[in-house]
Amino acid sequence: MPSPFTEEHIHFRKTVRSFAEKELAPHIEEWERDELFPNWVFKRAGELGILGAHYPEAVGGSGGDFWFAVAKSEELTACRMAGVTMGLLVQADMATPVINDLGTPEQKAEFLTPAIRGEKIAALGVTEPDAGSDVSAIRTWARKDGDDYIVNGSKTYITNGTRADFVTLLVKTNPDAGAHGCSFIVVPTATKGFGVSKKLKKIGNHSSDTAELHFEDMRVPKRYLLGDENLGFMYLMQNFQSERIIGCTSAVAGVDRMLGDAVRYGRDRVVFGKPIIKREYWQQKFVDLYAKLEAGRALSYKGAESYNDDKYVRKEAVSMETVRIISMAKIFIGEAMTEISDQCLQFHGGAGYIEEFDVARAWRDQRLFRIGGGTTETLRYYVAKIMGF
Ligand SMILES: Cc1cc2nc3c(=O)[nH]c(=O)nc-3n(C[C@H](O)[C@H](O)[C@H](O)COP(=O)(O)OP(=O)(O)OC[C@H]3O[C@@H](n4cnc5c(N)ncnc54)[C@H](O)[C@@H]3O)c2cc1C
Repeated sequence: MPSPFTEEHIHFRKTVRSFAEKELAPHIEEWERDELFPNWVFKRAGELGILGAHYPEAVGGSGGDFWFAVAKSEELTACRMAGVTMGLLVQADMATPVINDLGTPEQKAEFLTPAIRGEKIAALGVTEPDAGSDVSAIRTWARKDGDDYIVNGSKTYITNGTRADFVTLLVKTNPDAGAHGCSFIVVPTATKGFGVSKKLKKIGNHSSDTAELHFEDMRVPKRYLLGDENLGFMYLMQNFQSERIIGCTSAVAGVDRMLGDAVRYGRDRVVFGKPIIKREYWQQKFVDLYAKLEAGRALSYKGAESYNDDKYVRKEAVSMETVRIISMAKIFIGEAMTEISDQCLQFHGGAGYIEEFDVARAWRDQRLFRIGGGTTETLRYYVAKIMGF
């Protein structure tokens, strides 16, 4: 596959990398300790054009294609805190694509444009305490009442959830219709009845906030419905594809950095009179790990190319073939990157288990990828269905 990246993408990459290395990475210790990166990060990313490079100019973006989103997801990992990368990717690629696809001009002006500028923080509210992999089982109910919905229920594991200005929320508008009764609404968090139940403590991605949310008789005007009522499940399946493929490209870039760090470490670390990277055992292992990394990258680029062709070239819905490729990419990358990151930690010996080495944080951060945005097992179940097994 010829490189999809043009001079413009490369220029954009440099902007994102410089932001990640110079403005974010110096704060690792503080933000990981505080379990929150500050809100100015969204604003600054917006000022630099990082959040909207792949959104149309009409809504405040730069009008670029999907490869800008890919470049951003890769270069942000240079901040070496997956929590920060995740918070920004939720803002740009997970909570807002559905508004860009379905929103009215008023909805875009109220939510999407300020999110692209980093002036409003966005969250995506899908998962519930009793419904994660099986999204159709969600119970948060938006009951119609005149010109409003009255929303009751809860969501959990919501990234950016403690400080979001709005949540792109999946609700049931017909509680008896399973997947056919779901709808998307956008909810400003200043609405009466909205609450953050608790901030969740995680084993990794410490610099990001993850929250449980509740809604009690929350009155949301019907004008905040995205697209058509009861088509939310279908919209979500479309939305998941950008989320998953961007997660893939980001995971591969993060693990690529881990491998580079490990090789450098292995040149200096002398054991039994020889640098460990000179041991044939590890040389063979690293060749295999790099092969898996490149296989993961190739599969993620195939998924990104398919997505770009569907959405940016043909300007159509995401095809089932694209869904299949992206799902397989996430399955493969989830497992392969977990194996690679674990070997990188092992290669460091005791140092791998000590906080001051980046590998410890990268290892625990990386583990989320097999779970968040659809677990490996659920995706296998979908792919089997698509392939008619
Ligand atoms: C740090 C973090 C951030 C997150 N951010 C967000 C967010 O911003 N917004 C949001 O909406 N959600 C978010 N999530 C939720 C995430 O997407 C879900 O955790 C994920 O989809 C899995 O759902 P679950 O946790 O309910 O697991 P469950 O559905 O309870 O799954 C439990 C186990 O069952 C397995 N399983 C499920 N179905 C099958 C099957 N058919 N065959 C075999 N095994 C199966 C799963 O693979 C898993 O191993 C986040 C999660 C985390 C941890």
